[in-house]
Amino acid sequence: MNFTQDPPIEFKKNFITASLTTFDIGGPADIVAWPKNSQELISIIQWANKNNLKNTFLGGGSNVLISDKGIRDLLIVTSGMNEIKILQDDLYEFGAGCDVQELTQWAIKNNLSGLEFAGGLPGSLGGAVWMNARAYGSEFSKIVTWAEAVNQNNEVEFFNNDEMNFVYKHSVFQERPLRLTKVRMKLLTLDDNTSINNKTQSNIDDRDSKDQYHIKSAGCVFKNNYAAGIPSGKLIEDAGLKGYQIGGAEIYAKHANFVVNKNNAKASDVIALMQLAKKAVQDKFNITIEPEVQFIGDFDEFSI
Ligand SMILES: Cc1cc2nc3c(=O)[nH]c(=O)nc-3n(C[C@H](O)[C@H](O)[C@H](O)COP(=O)(O)OP(=O)(O)OC[C@H]3O[C@@H](n4cnc5c(N)ncnc54)[C@H](O)[C@@H]3O)c2cc1C
Repeated sequence: MNFTQDPPIEFKKNFITASLTTFDIGGPADIVAWPKNSQELISIIQWANKNNLKNTFLGGGSNVLISDKGIRDLLIVTSGMNEIKILQDDLYEFGAGCDVQELTQWAIKNNLSGLEFAGGLPGSLGGAVWMNARAYGSEFSKIVTWAEAVNQNNEVEFFNNDEMNFVYKHSVFQERPLRLTKVRMKLLTLDDNTSINNKTQSNIDDRDSKDQYHIKSAGCVFKNNYAAGIPSGKLIEDAGLKGYQIGGAEIYAKHANFVVNKNNAKASDVIALMQLAKKAVQDKFNITIEPEVQFIGDFDEFSI
């Protein structure tokens, strides 16, 4: 890979991406860059375009499986884009790289209600909006009012909530290359934070009781098939696959829709387990389940 001038912002070469993911899986990226704001993001995409390099986007790395061969060209990580601005009463603007767990703690400190459902949710705000992440009876579509994104021509676009095409685990940001940079959310100021703290903490405790913080995973690897009416985890469990292992990866013995990196698992182990689970559910119940986890990087062709 050749380029005449170094990237214009903070970057590293040949960076092992496993450390950027909750799966702890992923080979080297040729270049990783950490923009701190929209201007830096635009400048690094301009630099990549000028050097004919493709770019891949990563938030908190909690919903991705990165190839064992890594990522060619440029990986852009959003964690530095984490500014918070108060726009007016109850309306806040956040950098897309804000860590959701930190945001829920910030909301408690500031007596702000609305984010309790996301207590303990790994990942960045941008990733959560991209996937319309949901938990404990709510989802991001319910609190996001507006977002800014950079499109494939490196132009800034703005979206109101009704333009974000939110449905189950989907947003407009998946429909074409749109890099989320800023997100506005309406949060309600309460006189005291007791109920905010209690609800947030009870969700964190529930996740903790399921050992979610002690395993290397990307959460649920399959979406639920709502037409089928049975959660994917239950289907995989009833197909007899709970605890099944390939290489260093396991269909989690405590929750069959999680795949766990138990012992230096490769991305190929995770893919093999997902292919097995999908086929078993299809064969046994005639129900099709689709991946939720996003496959990023230099994969040989495969299908799940
Ligand atoms: C233990 C555990 C529990 C989980 N529980 C839940 C749960 O209860 N509910 C739930 O919905 N999910 C859950 N997840 C999955 C994951 O945490 C969420 O989907 C999270 O919102 C992903 O955010 P991220 O920043 O980590 O995204 P990443 O994994 O970094 O990226 C996911 C996708 O989003 C894209 N992306 C990320 N940021 C941006 C951006 N700024 N602009 C454009 N595209 C972007 C990436 O390119 C990638 O395609 C869980 C994961 C783990 C590990």
